[in-house]
Amino acid sequence: MNKGLDQDEREILLEVNSVILEIDSKMDSEHPQQDPSFHEANNWASEAHHPCDLFLTYARLDWQQRRPLNIDARYRVEDGKRYESMIRRDLEKIGFEVLGNQTRFEWPEFEISGRIDGSLAPRGYSAKLLPFEVKVMGDFLFQKARRARDIYDLINNPIYWINKIPSQLNIYLFLMALPAGILILKTQGVKPRLFPMVINYELAERDLGRLKTVNEHARKKTYPPRMKYNKKVCGNCDFNHVCLPTPSMDFIYIGQDAESYLERYWKLRSQKKEFEKAHAELVGNASAPGYFFGKNALVGDFAITSTESIKDGQKTTRTKIEKMVEGDTPWSLGEKNGKGTHD
Ligand code: SF4
Repeated sequence: MNKGLDQDEREILLEVNSVILEIDSKMDSEHPQQDPSFHEANNWASEAHHPCDLFLTYARLDWQQRRPLNIDARYRVEDGKRYESMIRRDLEKIGFEVLGNQTRFEWPEFEISGRIDGSLAPRGYSAKLLPFEVKVMGDFLFQKARRARDIYDLINNPIYWINKIPSQLNIYLFLMALPAGILILKTQGVKPRLFPMVINYELAERDLGRLKTVNEHARKKTYPPRMKYNKKVCGNCDFNHVCLPTPSMDFIYIGQDAESYLERYWKLRSQKKEFEKAHAELVGNASAPGYFFGKNALVGDFAITSTESIKDGQKTTRTKIEKMVEGDTPWSLGEKNGKGTHD
């Protein structure tokens, strides 16, 4: 307690603290942990674009083992619902009739179920019904997503939490035989970003084709192989406690002096020119690959990880060199090495 407070101030502070404790615990009890939802019969349209067939199969066969949302995520879900209602009200305020609210849909042929946030019926619109999907996201993702010029930029974004967004609306457009819809992205304190989306056959073929494979596994109760380890996707996967993925390590020949090179490289981080030179030798890029470009390896205290993604239809490889913090694992580093990443 602050020693500068007098007796009266301390007493009032204690009282306020006890009110805060009451608010805190009552608010949390309004956001109870939910049991995993039954998922056996269908794939969720919102997850149709997930890059891992094994995840999608676990979601069908082992849904009871899905890790429940933590307390922050439960608050986030509620915030999302509040923003969705605000957007509906805003649309109505400017004269659009909003039809449907979280209307459930099911597509038995592909074993998909989902919900669509709503539809507009704008006066004079030739296709009559214009479905929309609202995605509320954190500021970091929103800033990345809002830079997209169009829906194709979203689909090709290397971040799964962005590139997955159009699939749900696209599936709905197919199911309802509608030519177009609107994606509305929103974060706190900024104007929403609206993207028009025309039905996308290529995306549907990709998503539905993969779901067919998953449906086959769900029917036979078999499991596809894991996706290639991806720190972000696997690290945040609700089934990673079941899957226990391990970063794939290629066997590569490491010269005896590789570790001392890496130590030297690490120490050069504050010297821009020398660091860039060492980076080009060790990592480089696709046209001038360095020693570790595209590799996964552990060398002494260093973890070299490479991830691949598709950007603008082109395969991009990112190789990162990180130094383990003593007593830590290489995949939860305390020290950031932004410059160690190179496309
Ligand atoms: S941890 Fe990774 S490989 Fe395993 S199910 Fe999840 S996404 Fe797939």
